[in-house]
Amino acid sequence: MAIVQEFKQTRVNGGDAQPVHSEPCLHIKREYRGPLKGWSTFYQPVPAPRLILTPYVGCVSRCEFCFLRAFPGLHRLGTEEMIVTVYSNYVEHFKNSLDQLRIAPPVIISPFTDPFQPVNDRYGLSEKLVQVAVLNNLPVEIITRHALPDEVLAMLEYLPDSRIQVSVDPLQREGETASLERRLDSLEKVRRLGISAILRLDPLTPGIPGLNAGMERIIAAAADRNIGHIVTRFIQVPPVLHESYVRPYQDFYQVDPDHKNWWIVVEQVRRQIITRLKKLTDSYSLTLGLLEDPRLHSEFGSFETIFPRPIPISQRSSSGEIFSPVTGCPGDCLLCETAPCGIDELAEQPWRQRRLSLVDWKRWSSNRLQGELL
Ligand code: SF4
Repeated sequence: MAIVQEFKQTRVNGGDAQPVHSEPCLHIKREYRGPLKGWSTFYQPVPAPRLILTPYVGCVSRCEFCFLRAFPGLHRLGTEEMIVTVYSNYVEHFKNSLDQLRIAPPVIISPFTDPFQPVNDRYGLSEKLVQVAVLNNLPVEIITRHALPDEVLAMLEYLPDSRIQVSVDPLQREGETASLERRLDSLEKVRRLGISAILRLDPLTPGIPGLNAGMERIIAAAADRNIGHIVTRFIQVPPVLHESYVRPYQDFYQVDPDHKNWWIVVEQVRRQIITRLKKLTDSYSLTLGLLEDPRLHSEFGSFETIFPRPIPISQRSSSGEIFSPVTGCPGDCLLCETAPCGIDELAEQPWRQRRLSLVDWKRWSSNRLQGELL
């Protein structure tokens, strides 16, 4: 809360802190410092690590299910005060960070706040990050509720191992996002490029009327465009949002003591909804992957099958070269017995339990360098 007040004060009184810009939405500009982030236990499960790129903090879409409202600092500034933070040096920072690496995981662009939200129309940081990835031949993963800009579509052609996930809420509780048709048209273009194009039903929320009809409408529209694979996840609610998100539908939720007491949908309800969704996707000959649900993975999906095509880790022998995929990397560390990437820690250790960052990748890169010099 303190940070919100600080920026309000800055806005009202001027002063030497950053001014709040108003076009195309309220935002401030800051410099990003510190290492790029990697896997965190709060992100969606991914079968192998990612480097997380976050050029923006906050989102003006105001989707009704957004859990970022529970987070303090710049997230709160972005979701409650609607003042988005723009890291103006982020592209340079990413470029410099990559220069230090000989081995790198795929990058995931802005998984917390939409990479193509309106503020990106002005700064274009998401397009510029994809451009850096292209110049380095590093696959990208993008999750968005908007249509992909043409510029990104044009560049994706050069990153064949990339994956695009377009999210849609079956209950239509999204704020300012692109229409379903525009999103699916965009995903269809991705598919035509030969890039992995995934429709993401996100989130599944029980109790509110219209879920079944929403799922049917979206699955039919996806099948119509030959989008062959669907992933989905159930809503998870941080404790501080219990009153507004969970209380009206309390019977459908239970506390998860293994996940910081977040509220999750009870297993029986999850099973019912997924059974219905699976029948629906089967009826259109589409495949389905279920995220964040180890209990039901064995029945409805698993880490092996959440996504049809894995994204491999990349390596290069000098910082002047472009990256190339590590031969034999299955893109899933849990299934990987020989660790062709050379990082035994990834195959052996429960790395999902801790936050990986650029520091880890620099260490592994320098180990490789030393290995070559010996
Ligand atoms: S080679 Fe194996 S351990 Fe290394 S990143 Fe790929 S899946 Fe993970």
